[in-house]
Amino acid sequence: MEALDLTDIPVIDEHCHGFYRTQLPTDVMAWRRHFTESAAESMWHEQVPSTLFYHRLIRELALFFGCEATESAVLDARNRYQSEDLIRSLLQAANIETLLIDQGYPAAELLMPDADVAALAGCRVGAFLRLENLMEALIAEQDTLDAVTEALYVALADVRAQGYVGLKSIVAYRTGLDIRWWERPEALESFVQARQEAVEQGHLRLQHKPLLDTLLHVAFTEAARQELPVQFHTGYGDTDADMLLANPLHLRAVLEHRPYRGMRVVLLHECYPYTRQGGYLAAVYEHVYLDLSYGIPFLSYGEMLAFTRAALGVAPTSKLLYSSDAVGIPDLHWISACDGRRILGQALGESVAYGELTRSEAETAATAILHDNAARLYRLAH
Ligand SMILES: [Zn+2]
Repeated sequence: MEALDLTDIPVIDEHCHGFYRTQLPTDVMAWRRHFTESAAESMWHEQVPSTLFYHRLIRELALFFGCEATESAVLDARNRYQSEDLIRSLLQAANIETLLIDQGYPAAELLMPDADVAALAGCRVGAFLRLENLMEALIAEQDTLDAVTEALYVALADVRAQGYVGLKSIVAYRTGLDIRWWERPEALESFVQARQEAVEQGHLRLQHKPLLDTLLHVAFTEAARQELPVQFHTGYGDTDADMLLANPLHLRAVLEHRPYRGMRVVLLHECYPYTRQGGYLAAVYEHVYLDLSYGIPFLSYGEMLAFTRAALGVAPTSKLLYSSDAVGIPDLHWISACDGRRILGQALGESVAYGELTRSEAETAATAILHDNAARLYRLAH
């Protein structure tokens, strides 16, 4: 079975996060913290180094830096770089054409401006507007639900004109993907509670389900009208996410709602571990796409190969999108691009061996998943 060599295909990383200005970790624990979604300190202190992901990361970084494959040798080699040089070297080695960056996390003041990253790495950047952040800001500013709704319509009236390629929602983290239609009294009561929290505490974490669902319908209406992609966090995440409610099958009512058919729904993180469910949705709903992210979740090579096979096994290759979901450090954007190409090359090579695809059809599918599908979906000019 011969794997395809996809090294030369430039990728569009359709879901990732920005880069910390300061790349050099203060100590080994600060470094390990990047590689777990757990909030428990003992996890990054003691358990992270024994994941297969972390072993692979250290081995691959050692090859990149030309040092011994130990954590301390890799960190020493890495610490010899200036932050800018590190970002440039890793992103260029990853052959990344475009980074589509979620502006909602981490906080902008910690990050290098996207334009500086683009200039450093010689790649393009695009931005996503995170809906929950926008909604929280509007609830803090407006004192009635009608005023918030109106302001949200105005803020989302022409999303592309504001420089965004799409919207992003983390409702899966907050109240779950079973987004419902609420009666007005329920939405109003929910607004009063959220508004009170915003006023009393000076900030708001929007996890008031009737209100969040109601405001999401405003966003979906606008997304459908503008034929905008909306990325949904699904599946694997930190402990805020109730994994049962992060199953993409909960989106059925939204997906079935005819007026929303113009919205392009992107299910992030291969819905891990619900990849088959996400692949199924991409196979039956014309407006659903499945993102395959190879940086986060922190998985072994074998598990990433398994989800890639599962996605290819059910979804059209025209509906699959490469990403890293990398946050903060270029090491993650880089290892994701290297592993993603290798795994996709292996999985598509298997389809050639089975006689399902010719070699040239497999190469076309690989280019589509790594680049062309996202270019089309997000209307990225050449
Ligand atoms: Zn993300």
